[in-house]
Amino acid sequence: MPNESVTGSCFCGQVGFHVDLPTEWCGHCHCSMCRRAHGAGYVTWVVVKRAQFAIDRGEDQLERFASSDHGVRSFCKRCGSSLFCELSEQPDSIDIVLANFDGPIDRPPSFDIHFDNRVDWMPIDPALLKLGGTSGMEPIKEDDA
Ligand SMILES: [Zn+2]
Ligand SMILES: [Zn+2]
Repeated sequence: MPNESVTGSCFCGQVGFHVDLPTEWCGHCHCSMCRRAHGAGYVTWVVVKRAQFAIDRGEDQLERFASSDHGVRSFCKRCGSSLFCELSEQPDSIDIVLANFDGPIDRPPSFDIHFDNRVDWMPIDPALLKLGGTSGMEPIKEDDA
């Protein structure tokens, strides 16, 4: 599995990328920025070491936008697909939207982050680990959520 790579692209196909497995983690983010950027109840992200990630085509079609003081999101200028998120606190890794991969990766989503910011109209998998708080990644008890 470690030598396997998985490709992905935006909706229109102008931006293409690949990732060499293994990934670091995969989980759903319930923060309000992710919801608006994707027009979705939550967004499923895959985190990968930068050394295992490459943009294969369409780098000039990527629009980068600072979505907070510690994060830069990028999307395809032509079709609007949200693609990547780069965070200053994890400079050696990159967040990639799971939905843009062409095939399966090496793990299923295993937790919900920023869970205390979730919307109440989105069905939730109770089996996944729930994280929240200021960083969005702190363990939270069911009663606080
Ligand atoms: Zn596109
Ligand atoms: Zn988020």
